[in-house]
Amino acid sequence: MNIRIEKTATPKTKPEASALGFGKYFTDHMFIMDYDPENGWHDARIVPFGSFEIHPASTVLHYGAEIFEGLKAYRRPDGKVQMFRPIENIRRMNDSAERLCLPQIPEDIAMEVLTAFVAHEADWTPSAPGTSLYLRPFMFGNDETLGLHTIQNARYMIIASPVGSYYKEGINPVRIMIESEDVRAVKGGTGYAKCGGNYAASNRAGMKAEQKGYSQVLWLDGVHRKYIEEVGAMNVMFMIDDEIVTPALTGSILPGITRKSCIEVLKNKGYKVSERLLSVDELGEALAQGKLKEAWGCGTAAVVSPIGELCYKDQVYKINDGKIGDVTQSLYDTLTGIQWGKIEDTYGWTYLVK
Ligand SMILES: *Cc1c(COP(=O)(O)O)cnc(C)c1O
Repeated sequence: MNIRIEKTATPKTKPEASALGFGKYFTDHMFIMDYDPENGWHDARIVPFGSFEIHPASTVLHYGAEIFEGLKAYRRPDGKVQMFRPIENIRRMNDSAERLCLPQIPEDIAMEVLTAFVAHEADWTPSAPGTSLYLRPFMFGNDETLGLHTIQNARYMIIASPVGSYYKEGINPVRIMIESEDVRAVKGGTGYAKCGGNYAASNRAGMKAEQKGYSQVLWLDGVHRKYIEEVGAMNVMFMIDDEIVTPALTGSILPGITRKSCIEVLKNKGYKVSERLLSVDELGEALAQGKLKEAWGCGTAAVVSPIGELCYKDQVYKINDGKIGDVTQSLYDTLTGIQWGKIEDTYGWTYLVK
């Protein structure tokens, strides 16, 4: 793929590590390529980061045809920059594209342009503990008509944002509210696709949870309102006695790459991991009988996030005294160790950029 490069004439000053936060600052450039049926993916370019024009009738603005990915580039102790399982993000993006009838990108081309863009912006990968360069590839339908028909034109972009440590003052367990009214997704819908629309549908419950002092929503399945699905932007795992249970991928749950990595690491450490249905009643019983030892969410942003408290229909349940458990901690240490290149990657998950 030929990538045209237009360098910025006004490079920005890089922010201090302590000011980073999440998704507030962006690097000097962005990647763009366009799709139409005649030319396929074409006009790949790295251009100065900034606003761009969009037709007021563009498909994405009216009918929500948008998908995205989230992964990170990490600065290793030797100064090199690596990504974590990027091919998994590319495959998932193509699965999302298939669901929304957006054009897929051949894996080799998607890897090539991602790597080229990250290499171009690699200087922006911070090195302070816990910091990284968050990568946000996204794609949207871009036909300039209000008529509803198969999407012909699309745009794919990648932007990058240096982000701070998710845990500035140690790993703080989060408080989660189980949502019993709104649903996020149903089987046959777009739950397994990483698309903006899923988030739009989640907003109301998220707002309600925030007003009650909870940081995120735990979704139940859309049909029975009974089985645990996932949390906001994280998958979930529960340690019940010596079994680690995570909801099976039934079509309405996002197949997280952190989830998949957690399962592999836990199995490798000798834990029993079950991907199955887990009802909110079974969870309640486990809590009542003192069998729920640990609970955590897993996703790219926080890696592993202990759940210290669950609220269901105004009942509040504490987990592990609101503290991080040993399994959660060791999972966190292993995954972050591999991601930042501090421990040997025996899984072959890391991908050197430069
Ligand atoms: C992105 C995302 C996750 C986590 O996926 P990772 O690949 O682990 O980052 C979980 N749930 C939802 C809804 C998501 O959008």
